[in-house]
Amino acid sequence: MNQYDVAVIGSGPGGYVAAIRCAQLGMKTAIIEKYDTLGGTCLNVGCIPSKALLDSSHHYEDAIKHFEEHGIDIPGEVKVNLKQMIARKQDVVDQNTKGIEFLMNKNKIEVYHGLGSFKDATHINIDKDGKTETIEAKNIIIATGSKPSTLPFIELDKERIITSTEALKLKEVPKHMIVIGGGVIGLELGQVYKRLGAEVTVVEFMDRIIPGMDGALSKELMKVLKKQKVKFNLSHKVKSVERKGDEVIVKADDKKGEEVTLKGDYCLVSVGRRPYTDGLNAEAAGVKLDDKGRVEVNDHLQTSVSNIYAIGDVVKGAMLAHKAEEEGTMVAEILAGQKPHINYNLIPGVVYTWPEVAAVGKTEEELKEAGVDYKVGQFSMRALGRARASMDLDGFVKIIADKKTDEVLGVHMIGARCADLIAEGVTAMEFRASAEDIARMSHAHPTYAEAVKEAALAATADRALHA
Ligand code: FAD
Repeated sequence: MNQYDVAVIGSGPGGYVAAIRCAQLGMKTAIIEKYDTLGGTCLNVGCIPSKALLDSSHHYEDAIKHFEEHGIDIPGEVKVNLKQMIARKQDVVDQNTKGIEFLMNKNKIEVYHGLGSFKDATHINIDKDGKTETIEAKNIIIATGSKPSTLPFIELDKERIITSTEALKLKEVPKHMIVIGGGVIGLELGQVYKRLGAEVTVVEFMDRIIPGMDGALSKELMKVLKKQKVKFNLSHKVKSVERKGDEVIVKADDKKGEEVTLKGDYCLVSVGRRPYTDGLNAEAAGVKLDDKGRVEVNDHLQTSVSNIYAIGDVVKGAMLAHKAEEEGTMVAEILAGQKPHINYNLIPGVVYTWPEVAAVGKTEEELKEAGVDYKVGQFSMRALGRARASMDLDGFVKIIADKKTDEVLGVHMIGARCADLIAEGVTAMEFRASAEDIARMSHAHPTYAEAVKEAALAATADRALHA
């Protein structure tokens, strides 16, 4: 029987990063993945393919809406070739998953393909094509991720009533896509198909989209998406989704309890994700799950069994690839006897719509509720020379700082390239910068990053220069 210092179950961004860090630290490491390709949700049916389609559809939208103004004439009609778009996306996915294979080889990590299930706390059965192989490991890291969840009354047929996984490989552009759930995944994929020509209607239970992010971001994003002709039904409780031939009928109750009927040809159900432990046989090892089906862990990501750890989407916290990666690194370093630490307050959240939305730290709502005395500096993208040059005028940067100490407590932004810009907020907050610190740093001109400096200036005695 093959023996390891560490076995990782699941090869998503949590699992593969944990495996690499374990190997770097000198541990004999194995990774087990039930699918044929490595990389988990993120690389196969999540972050990477969704961004590939967002990029392609963005190019198309630019071509039909903005090229003329830029002085670029295209003789003939610009058309969507969805088959090629999906093929390019798959190519991007393949390059990335092969890259993980390369990294596993490079770090001498043994890869097992098959369903991993606990035999006991130090043995894992790996089932593939009716054969079972058992390996032994001193320590085990559960990184089995998550799957799309649904509502109990919705029957996903995966053809027209679909999850994000199917939305990444449609064979036609929907005429009318009804998106249930106004969160990150629904809005990103909704925008892809909107740009490609679909009518898109978002139905959201809450009274705002991207709940959890700062209210100012929700408002601005909704305003911009409405300009892009995305339709919204907020405060609507979906009660049935039915398919009749090629038609999908969604019924919901509005705020007043009145029934609203929406008809489309596709319905994307994006109401969140559930932790995935199916087939893991966690109980054989004595690993406890919590009431939400997540693997229960302490602050060191250790489960109820001392040599078994869990990370990523399958444990509490934000379901994000970079959070999973940090946790993978943390567990590997704990196993090596180090004392790593994750500041969960500084895990940024990003929505890759255009304009992009990004945030780190506390929202204004959270600070209000906690009774913290704060001040806000906000600066509009449209006042930037860079934004005018690219015609990406929507959005703003909002910096919230402690009223007394000026320490930055939250950075919230919407606009072009905010997904990358948020790194400045994370760095500043990691070093416990004050708004004045950011305000006094030189930011290259002309860049979108100047909005960060200007918002910091606005937060320190209202002294933005270009407002
Ligand atoms: P996963 O990536 O889910 O990987 C778990 C792996 O474990 C899977 O490969 C699974 O097959 C395997 N597995 C499960 N059980 C077993 C078993 N018993 N034996 C063997 N293998 C098993 N996050 C971001 O940060 N940025 C984004 O832009 C972003 N975009 C997204 C877009 C979409 C459409 C979706 C669906 C998600 C997106 N996410 C994004 C979320 C991100 O994909 C997840 O947070 C991330 O993949 C979690 O990583 P993980 O390692 O915990 O699990």
